[in-house]
Amino acid sequence: MAVSAARGGQRTLLISTDPAPSLADALRRPLSDNPRRVALRTGALHAVEIDSRRALDRWLAPRRPILERIALRGTWLDEEDVTRLLRLALPGIDELAALLEIRRLARDRRYDLVVVDTAPTGHTLRMLGMPDALRRLATVFDHMQAKHRTLSEALRGAWQPDAADTLIDELDTEGREMAALLRDPASTEIWWVTLPEPMSVAETLDAAAALERQRIPLHAVIVNRLTPLPDQPCRWCKARRGMEHNAIRSLANGSVRQPRIVGVMARDQEPAGALRLAAIGAEIDKRLAPPKARGGSVARVRGISGAMGRTAPVEDGLVSPGVALIMFGGKGGVGKTTCAAAAALDLARRHPRLRVLLLSTDPAHSLGDALGVVLTDEERVIPGGPANLRVRELDASLGFRRVRERYGAAIDAMFDRLARGSAVDVAHDRQVLQDLMDLAPPGIDELAAVLGVTDTLVSSTGDDVVVMDTAPSGHALRLLEMPALVHDWAKALMAILLKYQPVVGGGELGAVLVRISQGIGRLRELLCDPARSRFVAVTRAEALPRAETLRLLKRLRRLRIHVPAVVVNAIGAGSCQRCRRRIAAEHREIVTFVCGVTHAGSTPTLVLAPAEMPPPHRPARLLAWRRGWRTRVPAVRRG
Ligand SMILES: [Zn+2]
Repeated sequence: MAVSAARGGQRTLLISTDPAPSLADALRRPLSDNPRRVALRTGALHAVEIDSRRALDRWLAPRRPILERIALRGTWLDEEDVTRLLRLALPGIDELAALLEIRRLARDRRYDLVVVDTAPTGHTLRMLGMPDALRRLATVFDHMQAKHRTLSEALRGAWQPDAADTLIDELDTEGREMAALLRDPASTEIWWVTLPEPMSVAETLDAAAALERQRIPLHAVIVNRLTPLPDQPCRWCKARRGMEHNAIRSLANGSVRQPRIVGVMARDQEPAGALRLAAIGAEIDKRLAPPKARGGSVARVRGISGAMGRTAPVEDGLVSPGVALIMFGGKGGVGKTTCAAAAALDLARRHPRLRVLLLSTDPAHSLGDALGVVLTDEERVIPGGPANLRVRELDASLGFRRVRERYGAAIDAMFDRLARGSAVDVAHDRQVLQDLMDLAPPGIDELAAVLGVTDTLVSSTGDDVVVMDTAPSGHALRLLEMPALVHDWAKALMAILLKYQPVVGGGELGAVLVRISQGIGRLRELLCDPARSRFVAVTRAEALPRAETLRLLKRLRRLRIHVPAVVVNAIGAGSCQRCRRRIAAEHREIVTFVCGVTHAGSTPTLVLAPAEMPPPHRPARLLAWRRGWRTRVPAVRRG
């Protein structure tokens, strides 16, 4: 859309806020966190991949002195504590930093149009809710400032608002204005992009409902990669078109407010580079509905692929005795949830003595859709699944609420004792310390929830295995990189609490923080122990997922997380010419991927998972599909 708008004469800025961006790959241009000009024959396009850490620093730098002053005035913290807390945490949210950066860039008068490519579902919904978080932040600082105001009034009889009050107002105003901007259909359009497949459509309907709850209007849904009518009879294309038709129908009928649905046809070649992207933009501009196809019951077809030729079945390659944690991760839309579900079912069936927990930490929560059951934060057995398999969709905010409640109660107990012993007015301090949890580092809710699960692994007798369906790449990495950050944060918080402790003595609060700290230490140990935990990367035989997967493997290696296998999902297609071209392209991609991995110095086993139509769904089909996974047998080079 951005390329098309720029060619049409609009000065356009294209922004990616995905922490694992593919924008540079799609444009075939190196990008940075400063807008760069993308050469087009006509029109002016600039593109930027936001680095949220730097965006946050940029936003924070001019405000830091005042925020520190507020914190110093309102608490017993000294300068060092405040600096440490601000650096580690405040406002601490990638999504918030991204939104602030979008707003900063969008205000630039050099652009007529700003197009934003966001992170996958769960975290985009969180980003759209961020204006409220900004206003909460304003409240925290307002509480800190309140003590100073009260004191000044007592001493001087009146309070003159100063730079601190101005900044608190600014935060609140910024939050309010961003919230209004997102809800103003005259200036903001939200286009949701989905695939014409049951799981993608289910996720889109969930997202549409979430937007509705936040009163954010959804402009249109783009259904991408529609299968064209084949040029000759092809069972695969026929089945696929039938499935697509059913998926689109459930999209149209499934939401309260029927969204406008725009169709984009699949390309023979991946749409990378300005020219091919412009063609897709032009297709979107026409706003055409997806073409009609014959739906109804769809015949089951498995894709044909030459790549499956020299292969062997995957017997038990993903797990070995002693492994306690297997994480599945990858770019959004590659099918990691389906793979995690199939692998967990298979594992539980093969090893009846193991207790297997299949856990989703992806806030988009597709696991229930893959298994065909309703899942909650409570573990449950699924109908048609092995009795030794339990499944749970982790509710990160619920888990964090529990940590928060424990922390809150400990703070209260501490101040109750403090109040008994002296006449000091501690109401403000109590409020501020309660608020500190609002300044916790990004994703700590996810981490706290994961800790709740991994802690049970530590004390287990070795018969417990957790199979984890993680959030898409960027956020999964954030979670894996977080323990070190949170460790520092807990230490900083502890140092601050010690300043209060001498007055009150004792420390349930310290105990809470020590528990978090120790849990993190154990999680770090577990993640880096190749005998006990491993990461299975899921990808597709296409250029963009390949590039992202190679970057993911590199970062996992830096984190010393063992990757024994990469699953290349949805291999194969039908017999028409278009299908055959696709099969050949897949084959080339697999070879390129193998070269890339070998070049990078690690050699995970390559697992090929066949494409199936309709996509594998529910325990019995998932198990049958899992039996079709193959490992590639390396070709012997002669001569
Ligand atoms: Zn075909």
